[in-house]
Amino acid sequence: MDAKRYIVHIDLDSFFVSVERKFDPSLIGKPVIIGGSSDRGVVSSASYEARAFGIHSAMPTKQALKLCPHAVLVRGTHGRYSEASREVTQIIHHMVPLYQKSSVDEFYIDLTGMDRFYDPYKLATELRQKVMRDTGLPISFGMASGKTIAKMATNSAKPNGQLWIPHGKEKEFLAPLNIRKIPGLGESTCQKTLPVRTGEDRRSATREP
Ligand SMILES: [Mg+2]
Repeated sequence: MDAKRYIVHIDLDSFFVSVERKFDPSLIGKPVIIGGSSDRGVVSSASYEARAFGIHSAMPTKQALKLCPHAVLVRGTHGRYSEASREVTQIIHHMVPLYQKSSVDEFYIDLTGMDRFYDPYKLATELRQKVMRDTGLPISFGMASGKTIAKMATNSAKPNGQLWIPHGKEKEFLAPLNIRKIPGLGESTCQKTLPVRTGEDRRSATREP
C-alpha cells in the first residue's frame, strides 16, 4: 500500500540573533545584525526588526547599517551557535525516527507511516513546542507531502509559526506565491521564466489549449 508522505521542514527563526538574545535579553525587540564589522564584513543573520528595513543575510554590514543606522551590531559567537544547534538536534533525535539535518538550524523530518499511530501534525506541533520550551529559541515548521513544499510552508509560517499544506492542496498554496519563493530556483531561471511571476501564471502559461 502506498502511504501518504508527511514531510516536516523545521527551521529556527533568525537563529544566531535568537541565541544572542538568550545571553543578552536587552537585544529583544530591537533591530539586531550579526555580522562582521570590518570594511568587508557581511551580515550572517538579521532579526525580523532589522529585516523590516530591507536588511538580509549576505548583505555587506556597511550597507545594512546605512539602511538602519540604529541597528545593534553583534559580532557573533560561533561556539554558542553550535552548542544550541546540538541541543535542538538532540531533541529532534529523541522525538522522531527519521530526520536529516540540512544546516545548522534546519531539519527535514519524515513522518510517513506515523499517521497510522499518531497525528503527524500534532507530533510536529509537540516537537516545535518542546524545542521552544527546552531551549528558549523560536522555531517554525511547515508540513507537506514533499520537501520543497514543506520548506516553502515554513517560510510562509515564519516567524514563530507553523503551517500544514494537506495532500491535494499544494497547487492552491503555490498559485499566489512569487516563483522566487521556490527554493533552488536561481536568479537566471527566474529571469528566463518572466513574465511568469507566480505559480498561477505558470499554470495558465503551460495549460493545454
Ligand atoms: Mg533559520
